[in-house]
Amino acid sequence: MVSRVAIIGAGWYGCHLGSSLKSLGFDVRVFEQHHRPLHEASGNNQFRLHLGFHYPRHHGTRVQSRDGFNRFMERYPNLSREIPENIYAVPKAESLIDFATYRLIMTSTGIEFREQTETSVPIREIAGLMLTGERVLLIEHARRFFRELLGDSLVLNHRVTSIEETGDHVMVEGEPYDLLVDASWGQQLGMPMPFFYEPTMLLYYETDHAHPAVTFVDGPLCSVYPTEDPNIYTLSSVPHTPLGRVHDPEEARRIRDGVSQDLVRAKVAAMEEQVMRYLPSFKESFRFVGPQLAIKTKPVGNFDDRSCSVFRRGRIFSVMSGKIDTIFFAMERILAFVESSRERAFSPLASPLRRDIVTRTQQTREQGQVAPVGASL
Ligand SMILES: Cc1cc2nc3c(=O)[nH]c(=O)nc-3n(C[C@H](O)[C@H](O)[C@H](O)COP(=O)(O)OP(=O)(O)OC[C@H]3O[C@@H](n4cnc5c(N)ncnc54)[C@H](O)[C@@H]3O)c2cc1C
Repeated sequence: MVSRVAIIGAGWYGCHLGSSLKSLGFDVRVFEQHHRPLHEASGNNQFRLHLGFHYPRHHGTRVQSRDGFNRFMERYPNLSREIPENIYAVPKAESLIDFATYRLIMTSTGIEFREQTETSVPIREIAGLMLTGERVLLIEHARRFFRELLGDSLVLNHRVTSIEETGDHVMVEGEPYDLLVDASWGQQLGMPMPFFYEPTMLLYYETDHAHPAVTFVDGPLCSVYPTEDPNIYTLSSVPHTPLGRVHDPEEARRIRDGVSQDLVRAKVAAMEEQVMRYLPSFKESFRFVGPQLAIKTKPVGNFDDRSCSVFRRGRIFSVMSGKIDTIFFAMERILAFVESSRERAFSPLASPLRRDIVTRTQQTREQGQVAPVGASL
């Protein structure tokens, strides 16, 4: 029976899986190499609690987001906040799909939105836009929340280096566990699927006034999104945010940690030029404050799959996370395995059905009755 679980990584996935398993009575250890949870990709991203609007070209991702959003709101009501004006806009020339198709895809997925023509800031070269209920994640609240929930189960400043499967157990740092979950987004044990690492650069901007969130879809476009700090926003760009595409996690870290001032300046120029095409008041509203650097793990392919997958090899699970709203999916997959291993602990039971039929048939014969066809015995 499974009772001791080790988890590598205290990102959104490790924290959610660890605290959920702990609340179910499992003895859990979550190992994190840094001094705080949510330090890597989970604390360096666009902080968007997705509803599916970002993914018109991938059905599975939209459905996981739509459902994950609602579950996130139920489970973690205080770890995100609403955005009063959250706009998705489809540009006339550069979008890969037209506005009518985009709207149809969202309607058929059952994601609510409101079509809009007026906005509080000028937006140009647009075929259509809609107001959505996507929210922003509150990372500092989440860090505090998971630290409290996990308590002694969270082992910070500890990089896992030793993993060995012995059959009955998986040894992690020399200690026996029933299961190991690699929630390092592929950085510790890789992924049993074709994938690559993408170091990334978003840009942080400061503003004195509230600004709407504006996301341009679909294709090589850009977005401006608020953070938990009401005066700080991120600017992200599909063509300019990636810094490379590599297969070695060390190489990805070298690229992320070796970004020069010249590269930052070049990215600022390129992203501002891109966003100003649609948001002409961007530079009046925002001042650049610094880059945000992270590493994404992505499946190989030109499709837009950001859904979550869980792989199992013996006692080791690997979680391919994709996005934050899909933490519940990962938990369900892991629990399904735990449940099935509990069922296997029971020895198979012989069915009494044949014996019951024979007994009742004999009783009927002894009483000289013939059961009518269809009568219950
Ligand atoms: C630029 C960018 C923008 C994004 N925007 C969004 C967005 O707006 N909304 C959204 O939902 N998703 C977004 N994502 C994706 C999101 O950030 C990830 O899906 C999510 O953070 C992954 O969480 P995780 O827990 O799997 O991985 P991580 O957050 O990377 O956590 C893995 C943890 O494992 C630790 N670790 C690794 N190896 C070891 C080891 N050997 N020992 C101990 N600890 C170890 C790391 O230190 C790290 O803390 C974005 C990602 C990027 C890069």
